[in-house]
Amino acid sequence: MGSGQVTSTVPTGPSDFQGKHVTVAGLGVSGVPAAKVLHARGAIVTVVNDGDDARAREQAAELEALGVAVRLGDGATLPEGTELIVTAPGWKPDKPLFQAAREAGVDIWGDVELAWRLRGPDAAPWLAVTGTNGKTTTVQMLTSILKAAGLRTAAVGNIGVSLLDAVLGDERYDVLAVELSSYQLHWAPSLRAHSAAVLNLAPDHLDWHGSMEAYAADKGRVYEGNKVACVYNVADKLTEDLVREADVEEGCRAIGFTLGTPGPSQLGVVDGILVDRAFVENRQKNAQELAEVSDVNPPAPHNIANALAAAALARAFGVPPTAVRDGLRNFSPDAHRIAHVADVDGVAYIDDSKATNTHAAEASLASYEPIVWIAGGLAKGATFDELVAKSAKRLRGAVLIGADRALIRDALARHAPEVPVVDLDRTDTGAMLAAVQEARRLAVPGDTVLLAPACASMDMFANYNQRGDAFAQAVRELGA
Ligand code: ADP
Repeated sequence: MGSGQVTSTVPTGPSDFQGKHVTVAGLGVSGVPAAKVLHARGAIVTVVNDGDDARAREQAAELEALGVAVRLGDGATLPEGTELIVTAPGWKPDKPLFQAAREAGVDIWGDVELAWRLRGPDAAPWLAVTGTNGKTTTVQMLTSILKAAGLRTAAVGNIGVSLLDAVLGDERYDVLAVELSSYQLHWAPSLRAHSAAVLNLAPDHLDWHGSMEAYAADKGRVYEGNKVACVYNVADKLTEDLVREADVEEGCRAIGFTLGTPGPSQLGVVDGILVDRAFVENRQKNAQELAEVSDVNPPAPHNIANALAAAALARAFGVPPTAVRDGLRNFSPDAHRIAHVADVDGVAYIDDSKATNTHAAEASLASYEPIVWIAGGLAKGATFDELVAKSAKRLRGAVLIGADRALIRDALARHAPEVPVVDLDRTDTGAMLAAVQEARRLAVPGDTVLLAPACASMDMFANYNQRGDAFAQAVRELGA
């Protein structure tokens, strides 16, 4: 971990936008509010957008009525005189617009950078969470813990309330729990959190970042300039490496979380108890009990890891142990994240439709045994050998659906040849009912039927919510 004071770039004061030519790249959830805020502060705003569909035209009309220029169908050309670009986080860094900006020495900010720069002098500190999987869950647990401590807070960023609203709205906060995606971090060069956690790192979005190294480096930005704690996953060395490479404020500590017995400066688990050996007096000898594993809902291993990361950030902010316990008890996860749908004939049906990549599916497959696994969808370039090899011994059977199911079928043939596989050869929405019926046929009492597709859903469904709903509906039909 690097030491020494961070010389952060001077935040742009509210009046500094007066007369400045700002290009907003991309309409949509972040672009429209950004354009409005910048316009209200006196900037001369031009919005550029690749598409020009009906929705874009509607948004453009709304902005044009305010006096903002909008160029639809041309997201590649840098408008003349641009002094700053504020981009939607999803825009790829290799776009011609950005190449032109870099050549012209124009700064590029994302939505998070804009919010960070616009926050007032007494702004609430940020506790930031990133990682390949578990971000939303961890931020929600953290919010619940902070609220249990009586703090005014909200879950913001890549979740719930927009960061701009949180920073500029009338609501007063003591602290913000901020979920950040790798894209947002890429475009947030001067963000300096109070404390931050990287939960885990597995290959994801590599087509956007260009390489695993670039992806990891963008995730690692969350630690830059941290004041109190950089929270890392002891089981995931890459996250610890990122802490070591970060340039943080003097006195900022590296805090690990582990499902095993914690060492000094770590949080972990001892005999079913979540314990803190980081934020205690004499951490060489002492540990503080925080909560019981059974206080974590659901108490699957990866979710306990999320709870420990949330607890570490809360403790870094000075939250007492009882609030950690109460906050975890009050928390219930969002839909489609290892949600128990029903028991039918002694078989549990679990919806983890949100397991859209192999890393997430691996975590949920590690949480049950024996499993009838429903998987498949859009693989997004993933390979399944490692996932199947690690999970093979837990599988009673597998039912495959979706466009890229052959990739999973081949991995099962290689690493789990004994496991019966039903290849449904269907990509229609109704296939989920057939999948659940096949799974029921394979399962015996005591088993778990687990929807953990390890793939995106868009080949068959509008999104993972609809896929999970279809699963739950099919299970209800079984029970009827
Ligand atoms: P994110 O916001 O990062 O997408 P979520 O909390 O929405 O994370 O969880 C996404 C998926 O990842 C879920 O399917 C869940 O089972 C899985 N998951 C949650 N936490 C972890 C973790 N710590 N490690 C691996 N997988 C996880």
